[in-house]
Amino acid sequence: MVEVITVAGVPVKPYRSINDVLSEVFTETNGVTPGVAIAINPEKILASINNSKVKEILLDATIPYADGIGVVKALERKVNHPLCRIPGVELWLQVLTYSIPQQIPVYIVGAKPEVSKQAHEKLLGKGVNIVGCSDGYFQDQNTLIEDIKFSKAKIVIVALGSPKQELFISECRKSISGAFYMGVGGSFDVFVGHVKRAPELWCKLHLEWFYRLLKEPSRVIRQVKLLKFVYLYFSNRL
Ligand code: UDP
Repeated sequence: MVEVITVAGVPVKPYRSINDVLSEVFTETNGVTPGVAIAINPEKILASINNSKVKEILLDATIPYADGIGVVKALERKVNHPLCRIPGVELWLQVLTYSIPQQIPVYIVGAKPEVSKQAHEKLLGKGVNIVGCSDGYFQDQNTLIEDIKFSKAKIVIVALGSPKQELFISECRKSISGAFYMGVGGSFDVFVGHVKRAPELWCKLHLEWFYRLLKEPSRVIRQVKLLKFVYLYFSNRL
């Protein structure tokens, strides 16, 4: 078990690799450990400062991992050794790859109907045991939660963007506590090729956020808000 470190009051686990995370998700007998993995990035940390509901959700994560170079830097300063960023867009696929040999039942929720359908088909093609699928524009949350319960899914992947996906997971866990949940933002769009991920070099240079900004200039307001995180980091207040 990796010990928890707090960044601005938000718990984060300083994982050294994706394998560290996988060994917490899967038990030695290849079952899954119930819980929820949440990607912690500067945006969520800032949101938690002003919004107690967001903070409550982040405190509830059993696997809070650093998906954001700002969070990795803040953690490295506390633990005094190099760490690795865990991109959620890669982690969920690794989790599902690990689920294949045991055919662990998986339910996927989120994205636009055509993206959801393509993601469903592509995952089935890879051998993932998908027992249910819903796009992210459902009418009735309770009906969907009932369907997930009925499917007996042990892994539930939710791609609704933040904080919608975390709120959904929090409701779902109230009825289905024995599953492992993961919120994955826009990962289904990337998975089916609807949205391109930054080229590898940009990722290596930790500039994925800048690439997304160039591709989706409407994200600029979200990015400007992050200057506050930079200020908190350099003034040693995280
Ligand atoms: N989405 C959804 N239902 C909604 C709102 C959004 O399924 O009511 C999906 C949307 O289609 C996209 C994802 O959630 O696939 C959000 O992607 P974004 O890149 O904004 O999320 P982030 O990774 O930044 O949290």
